Amino acid sequence: MNEKKKILELDDKYIWHPYSQKKNEADPLIVVSGEDDKIFDIDGNQYYDLISSWWVTTHGHCNKKISAAIKNQLKKLEQIIFSGFTHAPAVKLAELLTSKLPRDISRVFYSDNGSTSVEIALKVAYQYWYNQGEKQRKKFLAIQGGYHGDTLGAMSVGFSSGFYKPFADMVIKNEFFPCPFTWEGDNEIFEKEKNSLEATDLLLDQIENEVAAVIIEPLVLGASGMKIYRADYLDKLVKKIKKRKILVIFDEVLTGFGRTGKMFATDHLDSNPDIICLAKGLTAGYIPLAATIFSEHIHKQFVNDDFSKTFLHGHSFTANPISCAAAIASMEIFDEEKTLEKVKLQESCHKEGLEFLKENSKVSRIRNIGGIAAFDVMGHKDEYGSELGNKLRNIFLKKGLIIRPLGNTLYLMPPYCTKKEILENVYLEIDKELKRN
Ligand SMILES: *Cc1c(COP(=O)(O)O)cnc(C)c1O
Repeated sequence: MNEKKKILELDDKYIWHPYSQKKNEADPLIVVSGEDDKIFDIDGNQYYDLISSWWVTTHGHCNKKISAAIKNQLKKLEQIIFSGFTHAPAVKLAELLTSKLPRDISRVFYSDNGSTSVEIALKVAYQYWYNQGEKQRKKFLAIQGGYHGDTLGAMSVGFSSGFYKPFADMVIKNEFFPCPFTWEGDNEIFEKEKNSLEATDLLLDQIENEVAAVIIEPLVLGASGMKIYRADYLDKLVKKIKKRKILVIFDEVLTGFGRTGKMFATDHLDSNPDIICLAKGLTAGYIPLAATIFSEHIHKQFVNDDFSKTFLHGHSFTANPISCAAAIASMEIFDEEKTLEKVKLQESCHKEGLEFLKENSKVSRIRNIGGIAAFDVMGHKDEYGSELGNKLRNIFLKKGLIIRPLGNTLYLMPPYCTKKEILENVYLEIDKELKRN
């Protein structure tokens, strides 16, 4: 039996894929290798990875420096318990990360995926108040439509994203506030922002003393359709929340590491959160690693002779040395190759491409920030797993382009090494296929 057939048979028999309905899904693509902005399938076909392999790949696939860093670390130490033990890659990475974050956000708790980094943020925020005797602060506030991962706590603050209907009775009930999304040519934005801030204030007036923290995907709501909102509004929102002493968590799992044109989304603001969650791009997309980084005043509430004030939480692979080595190499590349300038170039390519698409009657609600570009396709239902999404996905795949619409939202988020010519061609292809379908 040929290898391709064998892999597909075994996959069909044994594998349960994430976010996939087996019943009517086409055979998965068998990927054998990657290089920069491309991946190659088992038949030798080439594809441009325009979604950064589910938003994780920053510097491109199989980058030499990161691969070498991983190999070097492997020669020394592959894993060590992180309670009572430490190692150079973990502390070096913590120093590098905190040097790029707002000054006070400097206490790093490692884990291994975005959802878990969120769970840790929520649990610490909760216990922060508990340790101070404010046991009534049991609620979290989150943006309507926000997504924070698929574990229980993360679902409970992302419930309004619409992915979790079967679990309605299982999750903790939290409160959600409206967010004023915007797009090109939106002339109601200031009114929307004013209304949102007022609604949030009203909500907070009622439940202020029950709220432990507010969790926010800053500037971009990824999974619910690359919805973008303005930094100026977020700044006002954060200031309002902090005035009430409620903790602010930024879930930068997607926005971290250059996606919005700055190293972190928080860099677009005047104000700062108290907690930042990082994962996806942390190791440039090479190995699982996450970090939840806390303001020192939060950490202080856990340093005590009373053992019951300890944060009793940990994971087997906390601060895995190989993952940390990959992340350090990635951070060094940002400096050595001036990666943020590459993102700026990518942003201007997106702006040109989107300008061109404006003429297309199927294109609406055009939006862009940093390396992320998105628009909605007119005349189709806004549903995850919609027919249109699957159809377009397959059409682009045949053309060697990996694009996976979210409902009726088509977006691009390529690795930062993707060249201008490639993106120009992608926009031409999108225009052509939207006119045809
Ligand atoms: C992807 C994502 C998560 C979850 O990260 P996983 O590593 O998939 O668990 C959390 N928050 C945001 C904003 C994300 O985009």
